[in-house]
Amino acid sequence: MSIKRETIKKISHEIVDQVVEDELLERFKSCYGCGTCSGGCPSGRRTAMRTREIIRQAIVGLTDELLTSDLLWLCSTCYTCYERCPRDVPTTDIIIKLRNIAAHKGFLRGPHIAVCKFLINTGHGVPLDHEKNPNWMNLRKSLKLAPIPPTVHSFPEALKEVQTIIKELKFDELIGYGEEVQKEMAKKDKEMAPKKIQVLEEQLKKLKSEVEKK
Ligand code: SF4
Ligand code: SF4
Repeated sequence: MSIKRETIKKISHEIVDQVVEDELLERFKSCYGCGTCSGGCPSGRRTAMRTREIIRQAIVGLTDELLTSDLLWLCSTCYTCYERCPRDVPTTDIIIKLRNIAAHKGFLRGPHIAVCKFLINTGHGVPLDHEKNPNWMNLRKSLKLAPIPPTVHSFPEALKEVQTIIKELKFDELIGYGEEVQKEMAKKDKEMAPKKIQVLEEQLKKLKSEVEKK
C-alpha cells in the first residue's frame, strides 16, 4: 500500500501571536513535545485526537492545517492534559482559543452551526421535544415536578433577552459567515467519502480476521 505524504503549503506565525495575545497562554511556547498530553487524553483513546500534534502545529504556524482540521473539535475539554503537562502548558485553554480563532475565520462545523441556530431560535442548544414526545413530561409529573423545567422554554420573555444578547455580541453574524466555507468543506467531505469508506472497510476486515483467529 502506498502512503501519500501531506504537503505543507504555508507557515504563518499569526496563530502564535493570536494565542499569546492572552498572557495566560504565553506558556504555550514552552512545550517540548514530550507527548504526555496525548498519552493521557481520553478522547485520543477513541478518536484521532492528538493533543501534542495540535500544540506543535500551532507553535510552528501550520495555521491552515490546524484551523481546518477535525482534531480541533475532538477535545472534550476535560483538562487531563493540562493537569499532566510537565511544562504547565495550558493545553485545554489553548485548544479553546484555537477553536475561537477557527470560528472567527468561518471554520465552524455544520453541527455546531445547527446547535447555535437552535440557541437563537429557542434559547437552548438542545431544545425540549415535549410536543413530539410527552413521555418525559409525564415522568416529571409523576415525580411531582413542573411538566416543563423553569428554563427559557417556560419564560418566553427570557428568549427575547437571549436573542438581544446574541445580536449585541454579533453571534448571529459569526455563525452565518461560515456558510461559504461550510459548502466548501461539505464538498471536500463528499470527495473524501469513498476513501473514508475504504479505510473503514479495511479496518472491519482486519477486525473480522482477528476475531476468526481467536
Ligand atoms: S505534555 Fe506539555 S510539554 Fe508535553 S507535549 Fe504536551 S503540551 Fe508539550
Ligand atoms: S482536555 Fe481535550 S485534549 Fe486535553 S486530555 Fe481532555 S480531551 Fe484530551
